[in-house]
Amino acid sequence: MIQSFIHTSENNNLYIYDDQYRLSILVHPEFEKAYEKSKDTDPYYLKKYAYLREHGFFAKPKLADFVKLEESTVRENIINTKQIVFEVTDSCNLSCTYCGFGKFYEGFDERNGRKINTRYAINLLKYIFDLKPKNKHNRLIISFYGGEALLNMNFIKRIVEVANQLNSEKEMELEYSMTTNATLIHKYIDFLAANNFRLLISLDGNKENHSYRVFNKNNKNSFHKVIENIDLIQKDYPEYFSSHVNFNAVLHNRNSVKEIYEFICMRYNKIPRIAELDMRNVKLESKDNLERMFQSKRKSEIEFQKEESDLSRITHGYSSLYRDLTDFLKYLSINYYVSNINALLHIVEKYLPTSTCTPFSKKMFLTNRNKLLPCEKINYKYSIGKVNEKIEIEIQEVTRQYNFYYEHLKKFCQTCYAYKFCGACLFQIKNIDNVNTKEFVCDRFQDQKAFKNKLHRIFSFLEKYPNDFFQIFENVIFE
Ligand code: SF4
Ligand code: SF4
Repeated sequence: MIQSFIHTSENNNLYIYDDQYRLSILVHPEFEKAYEKSKDTDPYYLKKYAYLREHGFFAKPKLADFVKLEESTVRENIINTKQIVFEVTDSCNLSCTYCGFGKFYEGFDERNGRKINTRYAINLLKYIFDLKPKNKHNRLIISFYGGEALLNMNFIKRIVEVANQLNSEKEMELEYSMTTNATLIHKYIDFLAANNFRLLISLDGNKENHSYRVFNKNNKNSFHKVIENIDLIQKDYPEYFSSHVNFNAVLHNRNSVKEIYEFICMRYNKIPRIAELDMRNVKLESKDNLERMFQSKRKSEIEFQKEESDLSRITHGYSSLYRDLTDFLKYLSINYYVSNINALLHIVEKYLPTSTCTPFSKKMFLTNRNKLLPCEKINYKYSIGKVNEKIEIEIQEVTRQYNFYYEHLKKFCQTCYAYKFCGACLFQIKNIDNVNTKEFVCDRFQDQKAFKNKLHRIFSFLEKYPNDFFQIFENVIFE
């Protein structure tokens, strides 16, 4: 049950958190005594506590309320989808030790060098373009994903050709993007730069940091080839490099947040995204291996930030705590109403359980086996459509399936303090296939104690960096 409570920060400041009003209020220690009904409390704070109670604070615990997913939402999502992602091929010329499609994981279709069906992919493109209204302000991203997407360049070229043709009528802002290991980029950079592809290059830091990313033909570190190719883009296409190329690093036991930033920021003047090793869908027999390789991003960031170097200051806005503070201000504080004025006017806020995106609201992912998924980050068994000569999306069935999960998860979300924004995707919750059994529990559930700890971290961070509030407010909330 959700209730107002008082939490602390590292500086021993006290704050009320009230879920209903989305308010956090700094309070005097005497106020806490009134809240705890201590006998020797200063009468001023007893009055203050009584006043807040009268005005709805510290009201009876309540259950969070949820709505159901409507078929009309799924229909609108398909029309308004922002991104189409193609799994161009499942082949890759590297075999990175920790690859999510590699020996340690399960939950994806067999990798046997299969390329995507071009005709079916074009069918999907035409289907989406037909649904889109003509509008210069509409934006659609078309992305290519692998394996190594550059191993199927014919497909990429054909899709770009068809999409540009289709778009001549719709006049949308069309953008292409790709994640790549960069080992083949010297062959195709002219085409990619000419079509303004946004490139996300996988690079784990310096040579030693990058040593899990090896060629599958000889098991050698791909570092030199990757660096040679990145340097080539930087030299031959300096403007394109500066505006369209970014980096993605995986954190593990051969690198650290510090080393990744030091190498990539110093050499390329870019701040990479850093991701932890994925600990979901790990084969039982591989768990120990992966746990040995795992390194916590939060811990590695804390080590790095202790140095208070210029680099740690530059990368401050990319840290996990900064992101947690942003989410807090955006979804759980009163600032939420600045960007969601409707919620303020209509008073009743409507939530679906979990933070899962509704089907196709973010993107459509077409696999090389013709399955449609809401994104590439979830187990392929959660496919919610198919593409062949036709586009097969059973909207009624998809809606029913999501509502089935929601209905069962609701029991947990109703009493979870993070229900307004927990960040959890239902397809990534442990044991979700048993959601309708008595044994199931949401592994991300936050009771009052867990939520207090989270607020303790966030408020300690905010007290240390008070200017972040204004920066987040201007750049994220008031955008
Ligand atoms: S991980 Fe889940 S919430 Fe995130 S985009 Fe994919 S389906 Fe949506
Ligand atoms: S963490 Fe789990 S229980 Fe809490 S809101 Fe998210 S899905 Fe629901």
